[in-house]
Amino acid sequence: MSIFVTQPSIASLEEYVEEIKPIFESKQLTNMGPVYKKLQQQLIDYLQVPELSIFVNGHLALEMGLQAFDFPGGSEVITTPYTFVSTTHAIVRKNLVPVFCDIDPMNYTIDASKIEELITDKTVAIMPVHVYGNLCDVDVIQEIANRHGLKVLYDGAHAFGMKYKGIGVGNFGDMCMYSFHATKVFNTVEGGAIAFKDKRYQLRLHELKNFGIHGEDRVTGIGGNAKLDEFRAAMGICNLRHIDENIAKRKLVAEKYNKLLGEVDGIRIMKLREDISPNYAYYPIYIDPRVFGKSRDDVYDSLMRNDIHARRYFFPATNDLECYTGKFEIQKTPIAHDVSMNILCLPMYADLGLDEVERICNLILQK
Ligand SMILES: *Cc1c(COP(=O)(O)O)cnc(C)c1O
Repeated sequence: MSIFVTQPSIASLEEYVEEIKPIFESKQLTNMGPVYKKLQQQLIDYLQVPELSIFVNGHLALEMGLQAFDFPGGSEVITTPYTFVSTTHAIVRKNLVPVFCDIDPMNYTIDASKIEELITDKTVAIMPVHVYGNLCDVDVIQEIANRHGLKVLYDGAHAFGMKYKGIGVGNFGDMCMYSFHATKVFNTVEGGAIAFKDKRYQLRLHELKNFGIHGEDRVTGIGGNAKLDEFRAAMGICNLRHIDENIAKRKLVAEKYNKLLGEVDGIRIMKLREDISPNYAYYPIYIDPRVFGKSRDDVYDSLMRNDIHARRYFFPATNDLECYTGKFEIQKTPIAHDVSMNILCLPMYADLGLDEVERICNLILQK
């Protein structure tokens, strides 16, 4: 049987049917109806964030979050190339300029000690990513932002439910995006959200995701359409009931991998920052081919021959993607490139059997 890098965790069909019955009765299918509002409140409670606006996906949440700041076109946003393409595309699609900062070689998040040297008089924001459910250096990043008057928008697509020193990660920065895509720790099939503190963003984001409509006859913003419908919201309510149980199962998978791969020469497992409660979103290994004797691609191929689909994620780094050829000086982020060449995300999901984990590790270690 094929094993993929991830498998969505979904509630039972019976549970879902029960949750969507009221939608058939009310006939309100979308436009921030009662099910949306119920999910919004439940997520505010679970994530322990002051304010939350839910979107149809994480990418549009990022774009509209950026738009809500009203930066002048051509402004610079300091970000990381070691991320999913969405982060970089959101900046470029909002007519802003990404300025790439290199990453920390151990936890793969933006290297906060290298941010300040990239600040110019055009810089308006920092957009870091909580890669693989590992946390950025939020304290140092906030200090830099305060010193230079910059906004901070976190891409927290991988950070659902995580806390740092007991505080929900969505409390750090001006905004934090979450993704509820099918492949993430928590899903609404497709979906996403922005957490924030400043109440003024609530109305602004609400309007941006609804064409900029301000009242029946007034359109005050140039918005788009990024509303989460009631059926997806219902899916979220069902899935949220099982989230703690699913994260606990992911933990067992991660511990099994740690036990089998943690002490192997040439394989580096991820080092989590201290004081965080992890969500075990991904299981990346860094393979040093000179020490391990096999390259990342060798391991990827040998798993593939056994119908196990690991993923080279993130590869290539976003500043090295075809659509950006010639636009950025990729040699300025050497660590991000080295990691993208040697990283492999192993299968990780709540229902992955521990015997399967053992089989995967045996294949990796086979010489
Ligand atoms: C998944 C993801 C996104 C985009 O989220 P969608 O909900 O799929 O639009 C953005 N950034 C990162 C790092 C992601 O992993």
